[in-house]
Parts: sequence; structure tokens; C-alpha cells
Amino acid sequence: MASNEPAINQDFIREIVVGDLESGKHTTVVTRFPPEPNGYLHIGHAKSICLNFGIAAQFGGQCNLRFDDTNPTKEEQEYIDAIEADVRWLGFEWAGLYFASDYFEQMYAWGEKLIGKGKAYVCDCTADEVRERRGTLTEPGRPCPHGHRPASESMDLFRRMRAGEFPDGARTLRAKIDMASGNINMRDPVIYRILHAPHPHAGDKWCLYPMYDYAHPLEDAIEHITHSICTLEFEDHRPFYDWVIDECELPEPHPQQIEFARLNLTYTVMSKRKLLQLVQEGMVSGWDDPRMPTISGLRRRGFTPEAIRDFADRIGVAKRDSMVDVQLLEHCLREDLNRRALRKFAVLRPLKLVVENYPEGQVEEFEVPNNPEDPAAGTRTVPFSRELWIEHDDFRETPPPKYYRLSPGNEVRLRSAYFVRCTSVVKDVAGNVVEVRCAYDPATRGGAALDGRKVQATMHWLSAAHAVPAEVRLYDRLLTRPDPGDVEEGQDWKANINQSSLEVLGGCWVEPSLADAKPEERFQFERLGYFCVDADSVGGKLVFNRTVTLRDTWAKIEQKQKR
Ligand code: ATP
Ligand code: MG
Repeated sequence: MASNEPAINQDFIREIVVGDLESGKHTTVVTRFPPEPNGYLHIGHAKSICLNFGIAAQFGGQCNLRFDDTNPTKEEQEYIDAIEADVRWLGFEWAGLYFASDYFEQMYAWGEKLIGKGKAYVCDCTADEVRERRGTLTEPGRPCPHGHRPASESMDLFRRMRAGEFPDGARTLRAKIDMASGNINMRDPVIYRILHAPHPHAGDKWCLYPMYDYAHPLEDAIEHITHSICTLEFEDHRPFYDWVIDECELPEPHPQQIEFARLNLTYTVMSKRKLLQLVQEGMVSGWDDPRMPTISGLRRRGFTPEAIRDFADRIGVAKRDSMVDVQLLEHCLREDLNRRALRKFAVLRPLKLVVENYPEGQVEEFEVPNNPEDPAAGTRTVPFSRELWIEHDDFRETPPPKYYRLSPGNEVRLRSAYFVRCTSVVKDVAGNVVEVRCAYDPATRGGAALDGRKVQATMHWLSAAHAVPAEVRLYDRLLTRPDPGDVEEGQDWKANINQSSLEVLGGCWVEPSLADAKPEERFQFERLGYFCVDADSVGGKLVFNRTVTLRDTWAKIEQKQKR
């Protein structure tokens, strides 16, 4: 590669793509992201989205968004809409938007074709009987009594299945392959089932639905997908994927199924079934709860699409399952927000600080840089007056060793304003400090002493008369164990749910420039972390979510790894 070309990802999937383009097997690359609309997308899906759309973009090809909607009872329009919004928010635009259900007629015709060729038969067994005859990993299956049913009889039954003559579960259409195959997926798998249920996209047209393993290769072939990328658990399904395409006699070049390792994240559950449980059982406020690993949850939490895409790039793709440290995801976010987020003053647990020698009624405006990482971000003014809010934790009546913030007699810098020295405290009847008093030095205006004297702490502050009230929501991990599947005997994954993952702070204050902040706007509250405005901010009420703290444990882990 010429040195002036941008660095591109290189992994085993991209190597296959390069090989196929060089050999002339394909002249263009077509991928797809094929979610089932039975839930919201999560960070694992983001990995697949970045991979499929990323490969298409890198090789000048195209990527489709296809709803794999073959299971109508679990699918909903709400999920379809959310998935489209999430893919767009991540920064991707699909070449085509398709629904597997739009291909049902074509798939049905191929079902008849398979019957005509003697490659499929209608089976009258119950689900239990099918399972019982299928055998196990170590034992071959036994032939189905309907396996030798004449094609004409299967054809007639299959048409009557479509016409709605039989109840759910009465019959299935099965591929006729090999009940003794070493691969269970090849033991005459069911390819059609009767299900009298309306479909969110196809309406009530069908009472016969194709199984995923039959439908998926056909969907890929119809869309001329070149590389059908899926997760590792489908590896054993690949022979059947190829069988379907071969036996339906679809034109070359055939799509190639390629498996990669799904994303697993520490402290994170990712199956849609479990996420749905969290939502349905009210353990979170919804699919977009800021603690959820869903794209919409991460978005509401304050994640940026850039950070998620950067994360997907860094984890890469592999052929072996592994667990990724969630701190890497947070590290990518901090890097992005550190570059871009405007700095603001906010006081989450307020303590009154009265500047005794500051004239009553006087207000000064101090210029404060919006982002020290980005001088182009400019400055803003923050008002200063005699009564201020500081963080409760920034004052100690009896300071422990190495505590340099405010304590009786000690001098600190109020950022961009003045040096102040603590003179006294006011206590309530219970002996709690409710107010701190101090004196400022006018010769330290702007935050530096003319005589060159130093202080060891710089603190943020807010003018009490100008500060804007806010609610702040602090989040902790939703699960208590790094591996959410690591449970005591007899317990399920829910035993690992962190019962105190949300802390709501009611009496917070933020600087006046935040009064008009809009949902999803992200900021760094100096010394506290990154925060974003929550959608619950309505009618002048401000609600912030803490996206992530400032401390970056991952950076330390990385340094250690390098050493
Ligand atoms: P879940 O098990 O959470 O329900 P799924 O695989 O059933 O997920 P789909 O809607 O079928 O969900 O997934 C759409 C695509 O996203 C598939 O190609 C799937 O392989 C991929 N995908 C799902 N989960 C992950 C993950 N954790 N890491 C990477 N890719 C994933
Ligand atoms: Mg799936």
C-alpha cells in the first residue's frame, strides 16, 4: 500500500473480500446487516453494523439493511423504527432497505421446487416426535416415517398448509437430506411451519412461515449478497446454508457465509431476551434507559457515534470468542469527549461558601475557556458574587493528610476567579457544617497571585444567585460481576443485577450558560465527569445524566500492558 493511502482495517474477513475481488469471483462487494425486529439494537449489533457497512464502504460496494422478520409473534413495528433510527444515528446509510417477508412468495415457490425435486417433504410429526427422532451429537437420527411420502402428496399438503387448512403445529415442511448426518442441522431440518399469526410487515397474508435457516440464505441470494457475515454460532449451520442455495439452483456467484466472534463485554448482558426481561420487569425505565447496552441507551447516556465506531475499529474481528473490557468502550468515549465537549461548572452536592470581604450586591463576569484541548472553542463568562456554591467534598473541617482543598485557614484557587482563604464555618444544631466563610484576595483576580504565591488546589464554583437548578442522575454498572453468566448454583443471571445502579441527585446547580441546554447535548462538568442532557428535561427543568467519570482506568491498564 502506498504510504499516503489511509490505513485500513485488515482482518480475515477483509482478506477474503480482497481475495474474491482479485480472483474475479466478485466484481463488487454487497453486505447486509440483518436484524430480527424483536428488540432494540445493542452494542454487539454495533460491531456487526460497523463491520458490514465498513467493508462495503471500504471496497466501494453496498450494504443493505434487511429485517429478518420470519418470526411474526416476537416482532413489532416499534423495533423496526428504532433499528432504522439507531443505524442512522451510528452514521450509516443503507443502499437498500428490505424485509425478508417481502420475499415470502418467492421463498414459497422455492419450497415447491424442492418438493418437486424430492428434496423436501411434508411431515406430520409433532414437534416432540421430530425432536425425538433427530438424535443427539453422539447418536444419529432415525428416518422420519413421512420421508418417503410421494412428492405429489407433499405438494398437495404444502399448498393446503398455505391455504390455512391445518392448525398450528399440525405439519411442517422438511428438507430431505440425511437423518444420520454428523451435523444435526442436516438431519432433515424443518423449513416451514404453520403459524396462524398476523405479521407486522406482511399483514395477515400468511399462516405458513419459513424457518430462519431456510430463509436467510435465500434472502442473501435474492439481494446478491457477496459476503454474508454472521456470528460464530452459525458455523454449524453453514452446510445447510449452502445446501439451500445449491438445491434451489440459484445463480452464481453464491453468497458466502463467514462467521466471526460476537462481542461480549464485561458487566454487560447482551442477549435481546435478557434485555427484554429488564424492560418488562421494570428493572430499567425502558430500552433506552441510560444503563442499557442498547444503542438508544448509550445514546441517551451521552455516548457519541464516533466513540462507538472507534471502539468497533479497535476491537477488530476474530474467529474466537472473547470478553472485551467495558473500560475500553469508556476509554474511547472519554477520548472523543475530551476533544469535543465544552467545559462547564456544576455543583452536584452543594455547600454554601460566603466571601465575607466581597461587596454585597457586586457581580463580576469571569472569562473561562470552553475547552483547554481546543482553543478554537473560545471562552464563556461565568458570574461571580459574594455567595457561592462549592462541592461538599471540597471542604473538610478536619482535613486528612494531603487534603489540599478548602479547610480552616487554608487558601485555594477558585478557578479563573480569585484565591480565597477559609476563615470560619457555620454549623447547624446537629453540628453539621452548613456554610463556609472565607476571605478573597483582590490581588489574585483571574486566578493568579501578583506576588507569585501558589496554592495547591483549584476548585470550581457557582454564584448562588445565578446558578440554575438541575437534577443529576449518576449511573453505576447494571451488573455486579464482570462475566454476567458467572452465577452461583441455582441462581439465574438476574442474581447479578446491581440493585444500586442509579443515584438521583435532586439539588444540583449548574452554570447559567446551561439554562437552554437541549437533550443529548454533552458537556464536561469540570472535575466531575462527562454529562449529557436527558430527554426528561422539559418545561425548563434540567436533567443531566452522568455519561462517564473523568478517571480513565483503561489508560492505566493500557500503560501497564505496554510496559
Ligand atoms: P440476540 O442474541 O441478542 O437476540 P441476535 O443474533 O438474535 O441477537 P439479530 O437481530 O439476529 O440478533 O442480529 C443481527 C445481526 O447482529 C446478526 O448478524 C448477528 O450475528 C449480529 N449480532 C448480534 N449480536 C451480536 C454481538 N454480540 N456481537 C456481534 N454481532 C452480533
Ligand atoms: Mg439472530
